[in-house]
Amino acid sequence: MIKKTRTKPLKLLKFEALLERILPSHNQKQLIESSYRKYLAGFRGELSLDYFLSELPHDDYHIFHDLRIPRNDNSQLYFQLDAVIIHSKFCIIIEVKNLIGNLYFDHQYDQIVRTREGIDETFPDPVNQVEIQKNHFSNWLLRHKFPRIPIHTLVVITNPKSYIRISPKYGKNAKKIIRGRTLPNKIKEIEKLESEVILQKRDLKRISSMLLKVHTSHNPDILKLFNIHRNEILTGVFCPNCTQVALIRIKRNWLCASCSNTCLNAHKKAIIDYALLFSPVVKNKDLRSFLHMESQSSVKKLLYSMKLKPTGERKAATYTIPLPK
Ligand SMILES: [Zn+2]
Repeated sequence: MIKKTRTKPLKLLKFEALLERILPSHNQKQLIESSYRKYLAGFRGELSLDYFLSELPHDDYHIFHDLRIPRNDNSQLYFQLDAVIIHSKFCIIIEVKNLIGNLYFDHQYDQIVRTREGIDETFPDPVNQVEIQKNHFSNWLLRHKFPRIPIHTLVVITNPKSYIRISPKYGKNAKKIIRGRTLPNKIKEIEKLESEVILQKRDLKRISSMLLKVHTSHNPDILKLFNIHRNEILTGVFCPNCTQVALIRIKRNWLCASCSNTCLNAHKKAIIDYALLFSPVVKNKDLRSFLHMESQSSVKKLLYSMKLKPTGERKAATYTIPLPK
């Protein structure tokens, strides 16, 4: 059964809000767009993996998509797992690569060389990457007093158009590099290798609830990442039909002067954009200027209609806008 589904990562939501709201002439816009496309391709690869995993028998496998776990209890350092499968006899950690082009896996120099349209690019060897994650995960299990369990690792190439070659020096690790469609069979092969039941039902239950509890989304300050100043972000409640057109608030409704569209709830997206780009903790006055509204009580009503409750008194009151964990 799927214990943690894959949802749109916070970083992807931040990218989208930024691209919608950055000044169209900004000199960083191209760089942001190309970084966004790479990140989106990775996410799409992971989504296609989920399709292959859905073929596994639901009762035997506990599947977690996209986990990010602190390396130790007080750590600011995390390890990230694209997918983890937990069975009573073994675990499998999966690293997903969604690269298009000719891929040459070169273990000796810890790299993949990707050739596409005559251009060579290198990426870190994902088999080494997933081995490092395995060590972190194994330490995590031991630290939380779970029984020692065999942990297998796989690298899944999700792009069916990629051409894979593996250096002869790769040895038996070459078997860890597979395509998405062979994943269900590979997992069945691993299952045949393991005979001893190590994790009891109560262990599985405890692992599951602990992993979900400690998981923390990657939450970068996207403006800082691309060196963008607050003033370079467009404010206002945008029309859902037009690009970057701010709506006018008339009688509890939003009106677009460009396409005459009216919308009751357009402010919700703007408030979430504010949380994604600046901070999820807001004051009434921050939102008033961002939403282009003058009335304090109208903004307060909007926040209450979104079931957001204030912390603190009067002008110092703050509201916390919920973002995905
Ligand atoms: Zn419009």
